Amino acid sequence: MNKVQNITVLGATGTIGVNTLDVIARHPQRFRAYALTANSRFEPLLEQCRRFRPRYAVLLDVLAAEQLESGLRAQGLEDTEVLCGLDALERVSAHPEVDTVMAAIVGAAGLQPSLAAASSGKKVLLANKETLVMSGGLFMQAVRQGEATLLPIDSEHNAIFQCLPRDFASLEPSGVTKILLTASGGPFRKFTQEQLAHVTPQQALNHPNWVMGPKITIDSATLMNKGLEVIEAHWLFGAAPEQIEVVIHPQSVIHSMVQYNDGSVLAELGNPDMRTPIAHALGWPERLASGVAPLDIFATGQLDFERPDTARFPCLRLAFEVLEKGGTAPATLNAANEIAVQAFLDNGLAFVDIPRLIERVLEEIGTHPVHSLEDVVKADTLARLTAQDWLERKTAC
Ligand code: NDP
Ligand code: MG
Repeated sequence: MNKVQNITVLGATGTIGVNTLDVIARHPQRFRAYALTANSRFEPLLEQCRRFRPRYAVLLDVLAAEQLESGLRAQGLEDTEVLCGLDALERVSAHPEVDTVMAAIVGAAGLQPSLAAASSGKKVLLANKETLVMSGGLFMQAVRQGEATLLPIDSEHNAIFQCLPRDFASLEPSGVTKILLTASGGPFRKFTQEQLAHVTPQQALNHPNWVMGPKITIDSATLMNKGLEVIEAHWLFGAAPEQIEVVIHPQSVIHSMVQYNDGSVLAELGNPDMRTPIAHALGWPERLASGVAPLDIFATGQLDFERPDTARFPCLRLAFEVLEKGGTAPATLNAANEIAVQAFLDNGLAFVDIPRLIERVLEEIGTHPVHSLEDVVKADTLARLTAQDWLERKTAC
């Protein structure tokens, strides 16, 4: 019988984290939640500790960590040690007793812990696409040098992974001519430019097919999520921008496709439920029950496909442009986008101004080569400051 795998779940209280724990709980003989982490929401983390009894619970926030500690002691839960701060997130990602790390922190904050997991040779289940967007070259190098096993959790990339040959190394020798990255199109797929000018955060948070955290839900509405995924596919599969085609597929039943030189197109289909890619990656190379209902192909009935409209959704164009530019440009785009999304959620920026702000920041600070993590962190910081400045000037007008 296989040894029980110790799993660190980074971002345990988020949508991906909760789905990961759901799959782990279905296979107690295979997996143990070894470390669970969050940013500041200690109450759901306390509940997860009560249920999964991890060795470590980590919060980024010091006060939240103190509250978690008191909560655990009040309930007599002595087997979980509470840690806090970025160092602790890196420590539980690289811990020698950990086999697998689910990297599911949202945003740029996930970069360093994901890198720590890769450098220390873990099986890395990567949900945090921002890691690859910001520093794809460095991260893939860390995977190679650390001899880590990298498995994509993003449903599209997991689908592509499943449609590639088992010994896949690069596209051409495998006969792959194109990656067809599907996108639902989000809640505003049919909106006119005039309608887009007036959309509210509440409307944007209402995704038609997937239940996700707020940041990625807004990214799905602007199509920035698909843009980030284009960059993610570039690094994961060594695909040039012209080998990646975005296909709007409103039903979200096909999670992506791979086109081969003999005319075959392979697709992965299923209900839109993140437990499928999570169970696939956790169990890989074996298959595991995930709790996802089987796809009812007759109820699905119809599968539609459209080309994306980058005039109404310029974020997708911007992502292709930064991928061509390379260097710090994708990290700049990512940081400016994080600021823009938060401003939109706080009612401080119109939906249509999200791409405008990002484009302005990209123009203002230019692109530099990336030699080290420091170059990426510098670009991220500068982009955030420039974006904040633009927002303040806009509010003052
Ligand atoms: P959520 O917003 O639901 O959860 C984010 C998690 O990260 C929470 O546990 C949160 O803790 C933690 N967190 C937030 N900020 C920090 C920080 N600064 N330091 C440490 N931890 C932090 O996000 P999702 O689960 O939706 O997404 C997670 C990642 O997975 C994203 O990168 C997203 O793009 C990617 N992804 C998500 C998909 C989905 O279906 N949800 C699909 C494909 C990819 P707290 O609860 O304390 O705030
Ligand atoms: Mg996705």
